[in-house]
Amino acid sequence: MADLSYLKAAVQEMEAQNLTWRKYTLQSPSVPHAKVNGKQVLMLCSNNYLGFANHPKLKEAAIQAIQKYGAGSGSVPAIAGTMDLMLELEEKLAKFKHTEASLVTQTGFSANAGLIPQLVGEGDLLISDELNHGSIIDGVRLSKAERAIYKHCDPSSLEQVLREKAKPAKRVLVATDGVFSMDGDVAPLDQLYPIAEKYGAIFYVDDAHGDGVMGPQGRGTIHHFNLQGKIDVDAGTFSKAFGVFGGYVAGKKELKEFAYNKSRTWLLSASHPPSIWASVMAALELLEAQPQYLKRLWDNTAYFKKRLHEMGFDTGRSQSPITPVIVGESALARKLSQRLFEEGVFALPIVYPMVAKDKARIRTMMNAELSQEDLDFALEKFETLGKELGIIR
Ligand SMILES: *Cc1c(COP(=O)(O)O)cnc(C)c1O
Repeated sequence: MADLSYLKAAVQEMEAQNLTWRKYTLQSPSVPHAKVNGKQVLMLCSNNYLGFANHPKLKEAAIQAIQKYGAGSGSVPAIAGTMDLMLELEEKLAKFKHTEASLVTQTGFSANAGLIPQLVGEGDLLISDELNHGSIIDGVRLSKAERAIYKHCDPSSLEQVLREKAKPAKRVLVATDGVFSMDGDVAPLDQLYPIAEKYGAIFYVDDAHGDGVMGPQGRGTIHHFNLQGKIDVDAGTFSKAFGVFGGYVAGKKELKEFAYNKSRTWLLSASHPPSIWASVMAALELLEAQPQYLKRLWDNTAYFKKRLHEMGFDTGRSQSPITPVIVGESALARKLSQRLFEEGVFALPIVYPMVAKDKARIRTMMNAELSQEDLDFALEKFETLGKELGIIR
């Protein structure tokens, strides 16, 4: 065997800089009252915004699909046939998104990493928000197109890049997250889209944290801005508010056909276990038929943000159920997270290099299933520990 001591050295170096992940074992479903490392805690860091991951309807749909179709799909769809259940989901999702078509992909990550490098190539220009998700960044890196970034959520910066660089390019693609995962802010699509349109650019929105959260019935950030039918690519995930797993791209029929035949992550990797499609369809049905989940998520979000703000915490520029509690130094964020955990609140620190060195934070994710009592419990802990650690007065 080769000498792998450099692996150990690399991790040790990260440890010395406080950059490795502390390991937590989840010993229960990902629900508000969860068991982590043997301890009963209030879950404030799950992406399971609506509680669908453990919803009886989603579980029942999965069980039935397993009975009928088995545990696995058998292959890559293009090679051994696409299961009708997946096609049914694609149709339902396209209806939900008000697009002509959709393609279900293995994950949100793979949707971006597989499709972006195919949409634009040599002689083209790819423009990305400076804070886009890593899966967009990896898609950009795989493309042979020229690359540029614009300042975070800044329409005038996007316009400047387009003015300076668009002309010689054959094709231009502008990519942005819908909701940004570290700050919870929302891309101003209503201002970005007209600029992209003016330059004839393809507009690509990855709405992983907006799906099931933003817009009427959780149809996403594009719907929030009433831009349905205008955005070329609506990509996202079923692993967050939908509570399941998997990704998608939605848009025109030719986009689907192109992705089907060109996206390498899609073509060279098997499709989901059928139970996943069944559960995602159940999630779609709940979103359309039962507005109370979304309402509770946003009511909880408003209350939690307001109270944190009143206590004097810096919650940044969030406009979504992701609320960062920005404390500054990485060590302080880690300390606060550790103390919260000891007191029964599970919320993890996000530190450099994921965010700027002086913007380390606890990232809290709101959940529709948290009760008033739960919220007050968490808030009281934040207040006491914020004072204990000198973050608030
Ligand atoms: C979480 C996330 C992804 C990854 O989605 P998966 O389906 O879990 O791979 C992609 N893009 C953004 C913006 C995300 O926040």
